[in-house]
Parts: sequence; structure tokens; C-alpha cells
Amino acid sequence: MTAPNEPTSPIENDPLRLPLHQWSEAAKDVDALRRLKLRRPADLLFYFPRYYEDQSDIRTIATLEEDQLQTVVGRVVDVNSRSTRRGGSLTGVLISDGTGHLRGMWFNQPYMSKRLRSGDRVRFTGRPKLEKMAWKMSHPQFHVLDDEEPVEETVGLLPVYGLTEGLPQWRLRRLARAVVDRCADQLEEALSEELRQRNDIAPIIEAVQGIHFPESKEQADRARHRFVYQELLVLQIALAITRYNFREGEEATPLPASSRIDARIRRLFPFRLTDDQQQAIAEISGDMDSSRAMNRLLQGDVGTGKTVVAVYAMLLAVAHGCQAAMMAPTEILARQHYRTLTNMLDDSSVRIELLLGGMQAKRRELLLTELKSGDIDIAVGTQAMLQEDVDFKDLGVAVIDEQHKFGVRQRAMLRGSGRRPHYLVMTATPIPRTVTMTFFGDLDVSTIRQSPPGRPVVNTYLVPPEKRASWWSFFSEKLREGRQGYVVAPLVDTSETVDARSAEQLYEDLSRGELADFRVGLLHGRMTTDEKDTIMQQFRDRQLDVLVGTTVLEVGVDIENATLMAIESGQRFGLSQLHQLRGRISRGKYPGFCGIFANVSNEQAEQRMAAIVSTTDGFQLAEIDFELRGPGDLLGTAQHGLPPLRIADLVRDAKIVEQARRDAAEIVDGDPKLEKPEHQRLRSLTAAQYGDVLDLGDVG
Ligand code: ADP
Ligand code: MG
Repeated sequence: MTAPNEPTSPIENDPLRLPLHQWSEAAKDVDALRRLKLRRPADLLFYFPRYYEDQSDIRTIATLEEDQLQTVVGRVVDVNSRSTRRGGSLTGVLISDGTGHLRGMWFNQPYMSKRLRSGDRVRFTGRPKLEKMAWKMSHPQFHVLDDEEPVEETVGLLPVYGLTEGLPQWRLRRLARAVVDRCADQLEEALSEELRQRNDIAPIIEAVQGIHFPESKEQADRARHRFVYQELLVLQIALAITRYNFREGEEATPLPASSRIDARIRRLFPFRLTDDQQQAIAEISGDMDSSRAMNRLLQGDVGTGKTVVAVYAMLLAVAHGCQAAMMAPTEILARQHYRTLTNMLDDSSVRIELLLGGMQAKRRELLLTELKSGDIDIAVGTQAMLQEDVDFKDLGVAVIDEQHKFGVRQRAMLRGSGRRPHYLVMTATPIPRTVTMTFFGDLDVSTIRQSPPGRPVVNTYLVPPEKRASWWSFFSEKLREGRQGYVVAPLVDTSETVDARSAEQLYEDLSRGELADFRVGLLHGRMTTDEKDTIMQQFRDRQLDVLVGTTVLEVGVDIENATLMAIESGQRFGLSQLHQLRGRISRGKYPGFCGIFANVSNEQAEQRMAAIVSTTDGFQLAEIDFELRGPGDLLGTAQHGLPPLRIADLVRDAKIVEQARRDAAEIVDGDPKLEKPEHQRLRSLTAAQYGDVLDLGDVG
């Protein structure tokens, strides 16, 4: 009860809204808090500790061990402070627990001599050192205990938060303590009783308390579990809504694959489709035979024959008098697709054109007119196709060859003036199941696992330093036989400039040394498109024997005669990336040889290198990489275009992803706009987190 003459502080009114810095004794924390994006109490409640400092190893002073984090409880027997020679101060607080003495030491914190007094019962936690037969702990965490206070109950796990300059751990901890005590019970529960029971999930108040100030490891885990689930549920709800909006939105033209059309298309393929290709085509034609637009991800390793599947989808559209578009991430790839298509459709009347950036204005204008009039059946191009003035007469299907270079979510921008096209996104990066489910959860997925028969294998070797010379002589021998090869420069960091320099260096070393007898070219990301194209063309025309390059080589270029690859510092690449790279050299009739130089200095690197040598299954490699290194290396945020997860760890929490996905589907099925009162909290969480990046329609 508040006495009438007592002013009601704004804290009592709505503590969650009060600017956070007003909670802090020190006004100087304002900037620091702002840097951490902590403005209001709610921000801090959801600013989770990185880990906990364990105060559970309680010792008597006699049983202390040096340098380990331990806690002792004793009485202060002496407090003294003195100046150091350098003009600072040193405060010593000597405690005893009956088994021995320990001195807590504080430098330049003279007020410590006022905080602790002789006779106080205290707890110190820190890493003790034994100096001249006396135990010392510098800057221990300390706590004054009431005389009756049992030791066990005060000791537990202390949160350790991410900090910024000028904000010490203890101050943020104290602020968190105050905010949790004051505000945790003001939080609205977002998860229904039923959801919580089904998944054994802690209520919000308990979870907030437990994640910041757990009394045990179990409690911390239980609290974390709640937030992981909640984070994944909100993401899955956002994806489910996106999916719903896509399906319920503008209609697409149904493009059924009658048996006549199907036979006419298949006749164009000079080979028997693999079972996986058949399956993917069945799924795609199922989708396209509907006025709900297809929204499908086609994933398959390099060389598994995705292009053929995409061609099927495009011809299905053309057979119905619609147009098709195929967008590639680079001009090189767009040209390549264009060539494949024109070769395949040589004898047909299907008209295919290439639309690239930097085309002559006149030529471009003509193409745009023909796209609009419907004279062009299939347009192949780059992002240039996304420009405002590109308009199709009747776009039936849009194929986006992702190759992990696009933001998938750009796809909605390809437009026709008529109805919504069916969408097919292709990716050659095998993505672990959990990641697909998480970040591409709004798409249907078709997967091609098997390669077409007779596809040559890539023999992969780990080349130890003492075998380098013999590797290069093998490489040279194959070049003399008429083959061509790639050399991949080490990935130095994320800067293209630095990587380019490392490629230049390698290029110079090799063309003066091991490959002096051959015609060597250089390719890196700092070169202009024209320069790159020229070099690629020379390589294709066999005017060059070897291409030294950065990972720009990775983006699929088919040159059948190139069967050799050497990769420097292989340990720096992700498994998927290595796999993708070696995929460059199994395009033709000759077997490929890939030599990986690697500096394996730890067990994880060793495991990864062992995996790349022993399996050619890209999906298996992706799963291994995922388990060893986590999802971060597989996919940049650039690809999935969603904000990073804050607490969920897709490796550790894979099971929860599935559960959250099921629960989200159930919620959105029953209430697609989250209108029911029990979904209001989830609705605002979803809108706040994903409203900017996903099409949440009414919810956004
Ligand atoms: P991806 O795009 O998945 O990397 P492609 O579609 O470019 O693979 O196919 C790789 C090569 O395999 C191409 O030369 C293609 O003609 C050939 N190919 C595709 N499907 C088959 C098949 N079923 N049988 C034989 N060869 C195939
Ligand atoms: Mg391809």
C-alpha cells in the first residue's frame, strides 16, 4: 500500500517503460547502456547472460587450490589500506574461516576499506594464489552475509553479461538484479498454458528469474529452454504467416503438365532422368498445376542436374503460352545457362534471350519491348532483371539460381504485369535439415541427392607438406596430357582486397615456380566483370592451362576439360565450400583430382579434412560441418536475409526447432492473422522481430 502523502514514483506505475538509466545510480551508465541497446527494463530482461560464473565450489581455506574459481566463507579479521609507490592504493581484507587465512586485495578501490569491517561474515569468490605461504585473492567477488544466512543458499551461478566500455560486470549485474526483482512479474506470458505443458516450459516469470539468477545449472537450463523455444516459435510463426500470405495472395496461372506436354518436354532431354530428378519434377508440376503460386526450393549438390529440372518448369510455362525467367547471381552463370538452354532448345521455336546489366541502351530497350509483348519466351539474366522497367507480358515461372549469392527474399520482386509467377529457387549449397527448416521454413523443399550415372568422381587427397613436390609434378603431368586446372588461394578473411592479394601472391609464386612451364591466369573478386569474363573465356578456349583464383571460382562454371584442383590452406574453408569448389572439376568425361593442402593444427580441423576426403555426399558434409562448426559458417545472414537468432543454437536445439515448427503451424492454421486474444502477445513479438523482413501482411 502506498501512503497518500508519498509520491507515487513512475516505477510503480509502469516499471517496464521507465528509461533504464534512471534505475542506475551512476548516470554515466547511460551511454554504455545505450551502446548495448538497453533502453528499457524489458530490453535488459531479454539481455541474456553469456554464461555463469560458478560460485558453487565452496572450500575451506585449508583446501583451496591455486587459480581455480572457488568460494570461501569467513570472518573479516583485519582491514587495511595503504598507498602504493605509484600513487595508487591497495586495500587488503584478511578473513579467517578457522582452517586458515586469506587476504582479499583491491587496487585503487579505497572505498573497499569502508565496505567491509572487522567481524563481518563474508563470502569471497575468485581465483586464489599462494604467495609466500599466504593465500591471496585479487578483486574477489564478495558478499556480506547475515549471521544466520546459510551459506548454501546464497551461493550459485552468477550471470556474466556481454559488456561495453565503462560498464563493469558488477554494475550491470546489480542493475539486472534490480530490474528482475522489480519487473519480472510485470511481463505478459506469451505462451499458452497448453503450449507450456506440452513442451514442459517454464512460465515467463520463472524463466526470466532463472536465466539471470539461477540457483542451479538445471534451473538455468530450464530457463534457457523456454527462451530458445520462444525464439524459434516466433520465427516459425513468422514463416508460417509468410507462407500463408504467399499462398492466399495474388493468384498464379495453373500450368498442368498434361501427358502430351510432359512427353514433348522430356523428348528434349538426351538422357534418362534420375529418380531424384523425376521426383523433383513431380513435386514441381504438382505445385504448378494450381492457382496457388509455387514457392519451392530445389536443393542439390553441384552437378546433380538441377538445371534440367528448372528447364522442365520453364518449358511447362512456355507450353501454356506463358513466359519463363531464369535469374543467375553472376553474368558468367547467366551466360552459361543461356548456352545450355539454347543448345537444348536448338530445334524448337522457343525464343530465348539474355538480359544483363550494362547492355547497350538500344538493345536493352528492344528486349524490354519484346518481353512486354510476349515475343520472348524465356529470359535468362542477372539481377538486371529485377529493375523497375522490366515487365513481362505473362510470366508463368521464375527460376532463381541462388548459388547462395542472393537474398532469397528478393525473389518476390520479379514481376509480370499479369498474375503472380510460380517460383523455383535453386541452391547448390546443401543445407542441413535443421537450417532449412529454420531459415527457409516458408518454402517447400525438393532435394536431389544422387548424381546422374557415369558422372566422374573427384579423387580428393590431403597433401602433407613433404608430398607437395610430388603433387605438383602429378598436376603438371596431367596438364601436359592436355587437361586444365584450378588453384584456389587461401581464404584470408572476409575482405576481398586481402584475398585478392593472397591470390596475386600465389599466382606469382606458381607462375615462376611449380607451374613456370604453363600458361597461368589470375581471377579474383577485385577484378571488373569484363576482366573476369575475359580470363574465363581464355580459360574456356584453352588459351590458359591453369586459373589461380579466390573463391570466385566456386560459383559454378562448367569447363569439362578442367579436371585438376589444388586448394591452399584448406582448413580455412568450410566443408561445404570445399565440396562446392571441387565440384568444379567433375563436369566432363575425365576423372577429377583435387589436392588439399591443409595445416591441421587442431582436432576439429583434422575431422573436417578427414570428412572431405572420405565422402562425396554434400548433404552429409553439410551436416558434419554444421555439427563441428555450427550454422554460422554455412550461411551468411545475407542468404536467408533474416536477423540472427539470439539464443537458440541450431545444432544444440535441433529438436526444439521441429517442435516449434509443429506448434507454429498449428497456431497459424487456426488463426492465420493472430487475431485471437490468446495470441496477442505472440503477435506483437512476431511483428517486432520479423515485421520488417518478412511479408506478415496484417500482422506486420
Ligand atoms: P547442377 O545445375 O545441379 O549443378 P546440371 O544441371 O548443370 O547440374 O547438370 C550437370 C551435368 O549433368 C550437365 O552436363 C547435365 O547435362 C548432366 N545431366 C543432368 N541430368 C542428367 C541425367 N539424368 N543423366 C545424365 N546426365 C545428366
Ligand atoms: Mg547448375
